[in-house]
Amino acid sequence: MFELSIQDQSNLTSFLKDLVRTPSLSCQEEAVAARVAAEMRAVGFDEVWTDRVGNVVGHIGGGSGPRLLYDGHMDTVGVGDPASWTRDPYGAEIEGGLLFGLGAADMKGPLASLVYGAKLIVDSDIQLAGDLYVAAVVQEEPCEGYAMRVLVEEEGLRPDWVVLAEPTNLQVSRGHRGRMEMHVTVQGRPSHASVPEQGENAIYDAARIIFSLDLLAGSLSEDTFLGKGTLAVTHIENTAASKNVIPDSCTFVIDRRLTLGETEAKAMAEVQGVINHEAVRAQIRLAEFEHTSYTGYVCRDVERYPAWVVPESHDLVRAAARAVKQIVGARPAIGKWDFSTDGVYTMGVADIPTVGVGPGEERQAHTANEHIRLSDCFTAARIYAQLSADLLRQV
Ligand SMILES: [Zn+2]
Repeated sequence: MFELSIQDQSNLTSFLKDLVRTPSLSCQEEAVAARVAAEMRAVGFDEVWTDRVGNVVGHIGGGSGPRLLYDGHMDTVGVGDPASWTRDPYGAEIEGGLLFGLGAADMKGPLASLVYGAKLIVDSDIQLAGDLYVAAVVQEEPCEGYAMRVLVEEEGLRPDWVVLAEPTNLQVSRGHRGRMEMHVTVQGRPSHASVPEQGENAIYDAARIIFSLDLLAGSLSEDTFLGKGTLAVTHIENTAASKNVIPDSCTFVIDRRLTLGETEAKAMAEVQGVINHEAVRAQIRLAEFEHTSYTGYVCRDVERYPAWVVPESHDLVRAAARAVKQIVGARPAIGKWDFSTDGVYTMGVADIPTVGVGPGEERQAHTANEHIRLSDCFTAARIYAQLSADLLRQV
């Protein structure tokens, strides 16, 4: 049975405090990456390196067996409204066994647990038949899965299993809905606003589409495990020469959550169907992102993140549940996340069996006074060690 010594608990806590005190907005993870790499070296990983997009990867083992990769992201969202925090977002204050700060749960606490889970393997006399990797990745918040894609497809590190350490409150998660962002641009024809009948008002045409989309939203597919797909218009803007001119174009944004079985093509065809029905001149396009990582790597892709689920009967899900039970003493609930994770790439695109288990509560993510229970971080480290040993131990 893996135990975290008092010294390791204290070191994990100091490490986590440093992580929280080091701001790491997406694309600005350089300082936190250096801190993660230093801790990985200090606890005895065999190799530690930084890849082209800025992910920090630690490796233990070197057998001919399977490859197990633990994934945690280093970036955080912004503070939001500072007035809504009653604690310093970068203070890493501890009170009542809870550590407070931006990213404490999402997911610097889980990341610290991963590093100390690996340390337990290093300190044990277990010989690994395969390879254990901990990947601390960049830019998960704006474009989940992208940095993992670089690691797998460009750096050539293809694992057999991925464990996501995103917060699950030490339960097991085996999937979540996907998402995509569509932009719909409606064309109108300008005229002076004093003679609106001579023009074609792009805002009115957009409104007709939007009302029909609201009806469509009520009839989207449902999956018994992941629930319903959703559709919401989240932004709208128009162009017009001035406020007394009929707008010649109007663009609105659709946030679409995809349940299992809903593809990007299906989601776009549904919107196209509404446009055709309303006989409006409009085009749909997928939103794109482009950011430059702190290493100078240009990340560019469309905003498309598929839904994914791993069957409850899958060996990896069972192994994760067994490891939790062994350490915690009770069988975990096996469920899903509401938010999105790197699993959109690892399982959703690359078809690498993926499961989630992490300390912290999902509802803490992106909230003021975000916090994590330190004892859960210690427990998670032990679970990661147990799972590594179960999956990779030489027999
Ligand atoms: Zn996260």
